[in-house]
Amino acid sequence: MEQFNLHSYDKYLVQFSGGKDSTASFLHLLDEGVPKEKIELWHQEIDARDKTFFDWEVTPDYCRKFAEAFGVKIFFQWKEGGFKREMLRKEEYTAPTHFECIDHSIGKVGGTSGKLSTRWKFPQASPDLKVRWCSSYLKIDVCTSAIVNQERFRGIRTLVISGERGEESARRAKYPVFEPDRADRRNGKQFQRHVDRYRPMRDMKEREVWDIIERYRVRVHPCYYMGWGRCSCKFCIFSRKNQFASAAVVSPAQTRLIIRYEKRFGCTIKRGTDLPSLIHSGTPYKDITPELKALATGRIYTPSVILEEHEEWVLPAGAYGENCGAV
Ligand code: SF4
Repeated sequence: MEQFNLHSYDKYLVQFSGGKDSTASFLHLLDEGVPKEKIELWHQEIDARDKTFFDWEVTPDYCRKFAEAFGVKIFFQWKEGGFKREMLRKEEYTAPTHFECIDHSIGKVGGTSGKLSTRWKFPQASPDLKVRWCSSYLKIDVCTSAIVNQERFRGIRTLVISGERGEESARRAKYPVFEPDRADRRNGKQFQRHVDRYRPMRDMKEREVWDIIERYRVRVHPCYYMGWGRCSCKFCIFSRKNQFASAAVVSPAQTRLIIRYEKRFGCTIKRGTDLPSLIHSGTPYKDITPELKALATGRIYTPSVILEEHEEWVLPAGAYGENCGAV
């Protein structure tokens, strides 16, 4: 395999969830002197552009404001109907993928062929992406489709950067730091598309992640200040009881809706228990305030992403807290 040279690419696509690891991945590129004009933040919207069902309402706007604060471009991608439509599939094709193009028009692909299939259940908390379909269908495949269906990636070298850290799980610890990306087609007969994947955070410890975020004086996603240790979906299937109890405090209406779906499906998010039992056995985070709750569940992010000069950077309540068990 070719020797990795971080500075040999034309485009750098940071898979940007708005969480601490993707934030640190982006800041790492700045530390290494990658020109901002070559960097793009890419955010896959879990709930598409529909009413929020599973994720934090504020996340897309937090990502947008983050990009503005650092003077980099951001592009959004989503599967039509998002998490909810995929979950409710009944003998249907998976929905089309939408992606923002360089001129900010919206590209659309897929949704008209493939396998007719039924989900009618929540993704299962498993390392197997076939049953944990949310990561593959709503993030990984959506990103790949957006690359392979845009002419602008033909004939150039593109690096996709993602923030998986080995500390989070044994499986992530085995991910290669550098490898060809699944969108790569460097040996294509008709055209070439050179796409590599880089995981600069794989061997970083959480301390190093917070250090770089502090050094750049970044105000992180509001969920961290309320006590969440990871900025994943608000109702991430890997959440533990305290996280579900906290989500129920922050978003009672969404919680009731998800409980209704558990009953309709006859299949719970976590095997062996159901959402009401998890919520009742957990303790909500003590740092949830009305202001943070309103910010995290609103669609507009208002505070500055980079702290003002007079503000002191504070380690969020959720730092070093419970990892919700990513695999
Ligand atoms: S954050 Fe959790 S629920 Fe959301 S896509 Fe990832 S694994 Fe699925």
